Amino acid sequence: MSLGYADRLKEYPHKGVCGLPEKQDTERQLQLSLRTLVDLVSSAEHLVVLTGAGISTAAGIPDFRGPDGIWTTQNALERAAAGKPKAGAKRKRKPKAGAAAGSGAAEGGAAAPPAETRSGAIDFASASPTLTHHALAELARLGKLKYVVTQNVDALHQRSGLPRSKLAVLHGCIFEERCEACGALYLRETDVGTISFQPTGRYCTRVGEAAGSAACGGVLRDTLLDWEDPLPEAELTEAERHCERADLILALGTSLRIEPAGSLPCRHRRGGGYVIVNLQRTPKDSKAKLIVRAPVDRVMAALMREVMGLELERGAAGARWVATGTGGAATGGAMPEASSLTAGAGGAPASAPVAEG
Ligand SMILES: [Zn+2]
Repeated sequence: MSLGYADRLKEYPHKGVCGLPEKQDTERQLQLSLRTLVDLVSSAEHLVVLTGAGISTAAGIPDFRGPDGIWTTQNALERAAAGKPKAGAKRKRKPKAGAAAGSGAAEGGAAAPPAETRSGAIDFASASPTLTHHALAELARLGKLKYVVTQNVDALHQRSGLPRSKLAVLHGCIFEERCEACGALYLRETDVGTISFQPTGRYCTRVGEAAGSAACGGVLRDTLLDWEDPLPEAELTEAERHCERADLILALGTSLRIEPAGSLPCRHRRGGGYVIVNLQRTPKDSKAKLIVRAPVDRVMAALMREVMGLELERGAAGARWVATGTGGAATGGAMPEASSLTAGAGGAPASAPVAEG
């Protein structure tokens, strides 16, 4: 793989608070919180989800600000090199140099990734969507979830089968490239390799609808933001619009420390509020309707079971949701039909645009 995502970013000193301790609710507290969350999600009519790196740590992709996050590790190394005592972080292991890329630009993690993936280079292309990615795709397919906003660059939402039209990728994606002429968006199997909207060396193959049309041929550029690059305006506007309409916003696996994404949960205007599921505290905790300190996959598995009556089955052919036979009534509708998903195989063929700009 080419240079990791984190290594590709420019030097930037203002990365925010890193290395805060991760906490988990007691089992009793978690059960109480899950009961409240099930009620909130069941009654939500315009559910929006904001995701961060914490939803991808279970796929082996490190986060940024967790105890073993990329920025936490980098800060500790810089402080050590400068002869300063380490900051409040509780981490004890000495990281290897050249920590790998992470999954989004801001987050506290969920389940800790395997140790080898914390220090070595991550092959993003071999990471598969987690239970949470699959759950969000299924909730969107069933119409329960209206929109997903992600800060992650790992394409796991796209590969879970979540339609790109229901997803805002605010910080860009290492697997996507866009045509500067017609706006066509391509999802690739491999990292496109550049950052800050540089030409990737490929050209648009989109063919117009009129008979005899030639391929567009426009220059393709990466979509990946460096620190000071502007966010994709259309997707940010759509994200804001959905958050303003939302009667419930779930912030999953994000420490809400990067703006403007971090403030999106506060934009609801229908009195619904937002729920945070994250192991670290966040600057938005005080206004949250509910805070759940538990791994996101555990919370989403419980929600899918209790609200939709579904559980994830993983087999050789991929992952699929099947009826548990015990739930489903909470939505007030018929038991949703179980769907088949092929893990890791979402998205369009390598040369076909997946969306237009
Ligand atoms: Zn084009």
